[in-house]
Amino acid sequence: NLSFRLKHRRKDEIGELMDSFNHMASEIQKVDKMREDFVSNVSHEIQSPITSIRGFTRAIRDGVIPVEHQKEHLDIIYQETLRLSKLSDHLLRLASLDSENHPFHPVEYRLDEQLRRIILVTEPLWIKKNLDIELDLLACRVMVDRDLFEHVWQNLITNAIKYSGDNNRIVVQMENTGLAVLVHIMDTGRGIPKEDLPYVFDRFYMVDKARSRSGGGNGLGLSIVKKIIELHGCKIDVKSEEWKGTCFTVSIPL
Ligand code: ADP
Repeated sequence: NLSFRLKHRRKDEIGELMDSFNHMASEIQKVDKMREDFVSNVSHEIQSPITSIRGFTRAIRDGVIPVEHQKEHLDIIYQETLRLSKLSDHLLRLASLDSENHPFHPVEYRLDEQLRRIILVTEPLWIKKNLDIELDLLACRVMVDRDLFEHVWQNLITNAIKYSGDNNRIVVQMENTGLAVLVHIMDTGRGIPKEDLPYVFDRFYMVDKARSRSGGGNGLGLSIVKKIIELHGCKIDVKSEEWKGTCFTVSIPL
């Protein structure tokens, strides 16, 4: 009876060991696949501006473009270099946030003042689209890394502007629940289709690649935002309805 019990137990342990090896193998495969996808996305994002820079400079050099059209082409070349520089900036930021000993320095400061300043900084963008910006802020102090959160608001607010049509409305609202301060960034823009919503925080995910790229996007912005939020133990949620609008809510524990 005892020997049966021992044998039986050993079989269970081997089974458990096999299960955990299988689980580890499938996790390693997943990480490998993610790494492959990442490299292929990065190469694509680098390759496409380089191709257009090469094509346009060659055309200008070979005299194919009439002088009166050269300025338009030079402007495209300039925009493509901006795209590359934004990509490198985003990749460096991701690498630094991914590293285990990422330096982050929480300080206490007035969140409403930071939000108000970012609205001012983005003024040229929303004025150009004649957007109506509504601020509903509370005098409230938080304890987070100020520069990293500057990046969070900048990103969410420029997205709200970028994905809004002319004359739309954007609301930045703060709410104090007693346990946390919530920041809602709402727009009445194009919205995000239901099937895309679960992926918007994934690296390189763009609902409409052509539209995003033409607006200077690379699909990394929200993944950086999410990473910053999670590093602080905060939360971000998104609700959206196509052609009605989007609301991102960041929750910072008090
Ligand atoms: P991108 O550089 O393309 O803007 P992000 O990571 O910032 O990349 O956003 C990922 C995708 O989520 C965008 O391509 C866009 O399709 C969608 N998105 C983000 N914010 C909004 C918004 N406020 N309204 C509609 N779509 C949005």
